[in-house]
Amino acid sequence: MQPLLEVRSLRTHFELGDGVVKAVDGVSLSVPRGRTLAVVGESGCGKSVTARSILRLVEKPARIVGGEILLHPDSDGEPLDLLAAKDKRLRQVRWADIAMVFQEPMASLSLVHTIGDQIIEAVRLHENVGKQAARERAIEMLGRVGIPDPQRRVDSYPFQFSGGMRQRAMIAMALSCRPRLLIADEPTTALDVTTQAQILDLLQDLQQEFGMAIMLITHDLGVAAQVADEVAVMYLGEVVEQGPASAVLSHPKHPYTQALVRSVPRLGARGQDRLVAVRGTVPPPYERPTGCRFHPRCDAFMAGKCDVTVPTRVRSDEIDVACLLYGEEKS
Ligand code: SF4
Ligand code: MG
Repeated sequence: MQPLLEVRSLRTHFELGDGVVKAVDGVSLSVPRGRTLAVVGESGCGKSVTARSILRLVEKPARIVGGEILLHPDSDGEPLDLLAAKDKRLRQVRWADIAMVFQEPMASLSLVHTIGDQIIEAVRLHENVGKQAARERAIEMLGRVGIPDPQRRVDSYPFQFSGGMRQRAMIAMALSCRPRLLIADEPTTALDVTTQAQILDLLQDLQQEFGMAIMLITHDLGVAAQVADEVAVMYLGEVVEQGPASAVLSHPKHPYTQALVRSVPRLGARGQDRLVAVRGTVPPPYERPTGCRFHPRCDAFMAGKCDVTVPTRVRSDEIDVACLLYGEEKS
């Protein structure tokens, strides 16, 4: 079956006075329908910029300089390339097809409007419904995400909510137009462990109920192990490995993923294990290593090969991997 969303060779660069930082430099990934893709990698690898680029939410000095982002329809038909779409069409896609929640909900909630008014506005912008019906939708969604007494809390302001409640409200708002894809960028990172687990459970319940796909950005492999059906691993602005979560997390192919997985002592333990650093450091943003970008840190480095040849993505077992250790399998 066709994936819901395909990102092909996406490049988003920061054009600074003294050079260009290629934050996203050839990202390709796909989000399966109705399932959860976790995008993992160390901080600064371009996960958030990728997420924001999908909805063209990047601002100067960042600029999307290439690629395709294809949103496929539910039935047969041509995909919509979000990078080529007119602004008006893109505004329709936001919320109605693809909604986004961030690590800090305060960054996307208005402080001077009630939670309810913000959900009502989002619904009415995208659907032809009256104010009362939209308000009922808001109350229903707030209840659905576990906000107690939603009839009353619908008229609260964001500052009257705790961090966990604000994230729930943000999710209610994001889902109020029944999107086909929810992009969640580190949605639980700012929360305590218990609340984090509750929010992840909630996302899984809502996914079952609404059938939406989720693209979850996280630096935490434990979180990915808990919720993901698929995992895409990013390093220095590209995806080096994507495949089923069970395969990628238990039998990773790429030496970078192998190092990441090794660095989590109890992978699968609930949410608490953070990624610890892989050997060496991420190279400075202006200096991309030649050949394979991971070669200065790789335990399997092959001199004269890995520092010269740029690996292309090949399929090995069920995993797509960009590493010169693997060749295309004959099938
Ligand atoms: Fe390591 Fe070479 Fe594979 Fe890059 S291509 S990950 S340097 S083995
Ligand atoms: Mg980030």
